[in-house]
Amino acid sequence: MTLPELESDLAALGEKKFRAGQLYDWLHVKRALSFAECSNLPKTLISRLGEEYEIRRASVKRKLESKLDGTIKYLFEFPDGERCETVMMSYRHGNSLCISTQVGCKMGCSFCASTKAGYVRDLLPSEMLLQIYESERDSGRKVESLVLMGIGEPLDNYDNVMRFLTLLSSEKGRNMSLRHVSLSTCGIVPRIRELAELGLGLTLSVSLHAPTDEKRSAIMPVNKRYGTAELIDACRYYFDRTGRRISFEFALISGVNDDAQTAKELIRLLKPVSPCHVNLIPVNEIREREYSRSGRVREFQKLLTDGGINATVRRTLGADINAACGQLRRENLAEN
Ligand code: SAH
Repeated sequence: MTLPELESDLAALGEKKFRAGQLYDWLHVKRALSFAECSNLPKTLISRLGEEYEIRRASVKRKLESKLDGTIKYLFEFPDGERCETVMMSYRHGNSLCISTQVGCKMGCSFCASTKAGYVRDLLPSEMLLQIYESERDSGRKVESLVLMGIGEPLDNYDNVMRFLTLLSSEKGRNMSLRHVSLSTCGIVPRIRELAELGLGLTLSVSLHAPTDEKRSAIMPVNKRYGTAELIDACRYYFDRTGRRISFEFALISGVNDDAQTAKELIRLLKPVSPCHVNLIPVNEIREREYSRSGRVREFQKLLTDGGINATVRRTLGADINAACGQLRRENLAEN
C-alpha cells in the first residue's frame, strides 16, 4: 500500500494520520517483520492490524554465492509456493540487484531459460519490493541500484511494475531514486510510449539481439507483433521525451548474430536513436538450446565503435552459480 492508501485505511479505523507515517516507516525503513515490533503504535492498533492485515515475506528457498566474485543468487518462494530468482551483484561502486517481475514469461525468446516452462503469474508490487528487502536483510548489503532484468517481461506486468516503482521511490519509504533503476524490455512498443510520457527518469534497456525483422523474428517472437522500425521509433520517442539514452542489449550467439553484416545492419538501424548505448552480452549457454557463445565479441564491439555506436561488453558475474536469467528456477522445477 502507498502511504496515502495506508492513511485512508487507518482513518477508517479511527486513527490519526501520523500513525500511517509511523507504520510506513516500520514497514519500509525499519523493516519490521511483525506488527508487534512497532513499538510506538498503540497496543489496540497493533492488535487490529494483526487481525486485518499481514506483513508478507518471501523465504529463501535456495541461495548460491559465487566464489569468484561474491555474486549471490537467491531463489525466493512466496506464500503460494511460486518462486522467482533475484541476483545481488557487487561492484566497486556499490551493489546492484537484479529482480524478477513475473513467475515465468510469455515472450518465448529462443535463447532464454526463463520462458521455457511458460508463464505462471504476475508478481505483485509487494513481491518485487520483497526481493529487495529480503536480500538486503539476508546479505547485510545495501542495494544501490536496481535492474528489472530477472525473470519476466516488466512491460507485460505494467500496472504492478508502475505501482512498485511508486513505492520504491517514495520519500518516506525505500526512497530509491529512479535514476538508479533500469527497466529491460523485449520491446512492447505501446508500453514504451506510455512509459516515455511518465518521464520517470529510469533507464530503458531494450533487448534487441538482432537488427533486421527477419533475423529478430527468428529468435524473438515479440518482433512479429512489433517490428524493428516501430520499436526504434518508440525508442526515439522515449529519448526525445525523457532525454535518457537508450541502452540496447545484444547477446552474441555464435553463427547467429555475430558477423560483420549483422554489425553493419545494427549500425544502420541505430542511427536514428543515437546517441545510444549497446551492451554486448556473451550469450549464456542454456540447457535447452544449442546456442554457443560467440568468440567474436571484441571484433563485433570494434565494428560498432568504428561505425559510431558506443558499445561495451558486459562483465560476466556469478559464472560458477548459474546466475543468468531463469536458470535456477528452471533447474529446481526439473528437480521437484
Ligand atoms: N523480459 C525482459 C527482461 C528480462 S531478460 C527483456 O527481454 O529484456 C533480461 C535480459 O537477459 C534480456 O536482454 C534477455 O534478452 C537476456 N537474456 C535472456 N537469456 C539470455 C541468455 N541465454 N544469454 C544472454 N542473455 C540472455
